[in-house]
Amino acid sequence: MLEEQAYSSSLLLLSGGVDSSALASICSPAAALFIDYGQRPAPAERRAAAVIGRLLGVSLLEIAIDLRPIGAGLLLDEVSIQNSSSPEWWPYRNQLLVSIAASVALRHGYRDLVVGTVSGDGSRHIDGTVEFYEALNACLQIQEGGITVSVPAISETTEHLVARSGLGEDILGWTVSCHRSELPCGACPGCWKRDRVMNNLGILQGRSEAIEDL
Ligand SMILES: [Zn+2]
Repeated sequence: MLEEQAYSSSLLLLSGGVDSSALASICSPAAALFIDYGQRPAPAERRAAAVIGRLLGVSLLEIAIDLRPIGAGLLLDEVSIQNSSSPEWWPYRNQLLVSIAASVALRHGYRDLVVGTVSGDGSRHIDGTVEFYEALNACLQIQEGGITVSVPAISETTEHLVARSGLGEDILGWTVSCHRSELPCGACPGCWKRDRVMNNLGILQGRSEAIEDL
């Protein structure tokens, strides 16, 4: 169970998606960080993170670092790396993003990073597994700075996490999950997951057009 006080010195990676937004609500971190690393939906994600951070009362840091020259998968274009485990796989993405976030955390005096990985992520790519984050945390811990990274929702489904967060449509309506573009394409793993979650929770149904207008 998450304890709010445990995250008072934490920096949460906020993508503007459902998982990290729900975790932001539950953790009440000291601040959130949005990273524009060149992903196609970055402008929409950035707007979502800014609005959601404001609605939740979490201050938002932003950084832009162009990782497109070393990217791949749906977040970059329509060409996936051969034999990748999922079409959205961006090699070493989470390792890169956590490293960037750790540097930002050090500069701003935060001790801990929180990432909104959930239980299904590990079946799509190894950098969504418990083993990966344990190794990454150990890698950070042996370096100067002593930053930690935690994934408190990694054993939960998104549905469970969202239900526990108590987030309503006023915030969930702003979340962005598409891997391809600023508007939901309706045909990528990010869009399918968001639709599944909203259907299972019985929220935002019939509001896809409204969401596209955001
Ligand atoms: Zn999509």
